[in-house]
Amino acid sequence: MRYHSTRGDAPVLGFRDVTLAGLASDGGLYVPERWPSFSTEQIAAMRGLSYAETAVQVMLPFVGDDLTEAELRALCTQAYDRFAHAAVTPLVQLDAQNWLLELFHGPTLAFKDVALQLLGLLFEKFLVGSDAPLTIVGATSGDTGSAAIDAVAGRHGVDIFMLHPKGRVSEVQRRQMTTVLAPNVHNIAIEGSFDDAQALVKAMFNDADFSGRFRLSAVNSINWARLMAQVVYYFYAAVRLGGPERPVAFAVPTGNFGDVFAGYVAAKMGLPIAKLIVATNVNDILHRALSSGDYSTGIVTPTAAPSMDIQVSSNFERLLADLAGGPIAEQMRGFEASKAMRLTNAQQQGAAALFVSDRVEPDDMNEAMRWAYAETGEVIDPHSAIGLAAARRAGLPADVPIVTLATAHPAKFADAVERATGNRPHIPARLGDLHERQERYDVLPASFVAIVAYIAERAKPRP
Ligand SMILES: *Cc1c(COP(=O)(O)O)cnc(C)c1O
Repeated sequence: MRYHSTRGDAPVLGFRDVTLAGLASDGGLYVPERWPSFSTEQIAAMRGLSYAETAVQVMLPFVGDDLTEAELRALCTQAYDRFAHAAVTPLVQLDAQNWLLELFHGPTLAFKDVALQLLGLLFEKFLVGSDAPLTIVGATSGDTGSAAIDAVAGRHGVDIFMLHPKGRVSEVQRRQMTTVLAPNVHNIAIEGSFDDAQALVKAMFNDADFSGRFRLSAVNSINWARLMAQVVYYFYAAVRLGGPERPVAFAVPTGNFGDVFAGYVAAKMGLPIAKLIVATNVNDILHRALSSGDYSTGIVTPTAAPSMDIQVSSNFERLLADLAGGPIAEQMRGFEASKAMRLTNAQQQGAAALFVSDRVEPDDMNEAMRWAYAETGEVIDPHSAIGLAAARRAGLPADVPIVTLATAHPAKFADAVERATGNRPHIPARLGDLHERQERYDVLPASFVAIVAYIAERAKPRP
């Protein structure tokens, strides 16, 4: 399998190099040259498989010759053994139509673990025998950071520099990052928003001098391997609810469009998906783009669902390129210059075939948390509640099961859950002493010069 950039001007790479590179050198994102496709029989044959084995089947076409099936199986087994639930991503029924897919049973309690536990192992595997240390730089709205740090802490040949917006992640999220004291982990609180942090990371990749000195890699969902790992749970859930004979819908609380793009990939691979419901909070650029073709950034409003407080959704570029049938360098350059663009008619119509979108206000999010608790006893987090609110009012036919992706454990956002439901969720015992552990991080301005100087002082350059 070969991978091309969405902007058409970067080297064509195989899976190993795409995984290590993260972002393409022309500022675009890597996508596979074609979508592998599964027959109805192949999908039906996934019904009895464990999560790890489903992962092997779904991901094998993407890894090409860079991993044997046995190697991929060993990595999947190791990654998903660290989950605290035997089903890895269990389904929970809420009412006659609605289900939750709990993606938060990994080490840091958010769905990011599903992909990052595997990515950490892929890095290690692909770096064996290489003398150039990897410098991972990432921006996080909270959950990517802790999941990535957990996945690479103490690993040989890798340094990680994680930028988070100061004061805009929850205390549990911050502590999950800053209490990891391994010498290869560097936490930076930047004085700015998540979008500022993400723009700084992109600028580092695009800076020829800096990216020449260090072997940079990305763990944000711009890294293809992460999206690939997320495609798995769409198959895993759908075949348990009657797929492939019966189409299933998914409601996805969305920020960077990574999680829901993985659903699009699953559909492209042949999984019958009735609808993908893109649920945003008041930071609604994706809802505006999908409902009216207007992809223009606004000001980021901090909310109780901070992992969705985003006004530039990196992975949307992958969808737009796929719907356009090829590179979209000009469209993206226009967007980067003016912070606004219109989808073409082809892009709007293509998206409308599979996606619907919704913007969920704080009151409706709180109401969804209360409903789930009162009617089912389930305590859900604010992000999952946004997905559930959108699912319950999507108006889909009653015979279509709707799976809401439950993206975080409620204890990660205990204050917001307690405000909405009066019930304070507790951190699982396996993370119990988080609030006593020592923290370590540095505060820097949202300045390219300052961040680059900080990293250059601490990272190991190419030999
Ligand atoms: C990252 C995250 C999201 C958004 O996922 P994207 O792939 O960025 O769309 C939603 N909920 C939680 C809890 C997250 O951590």
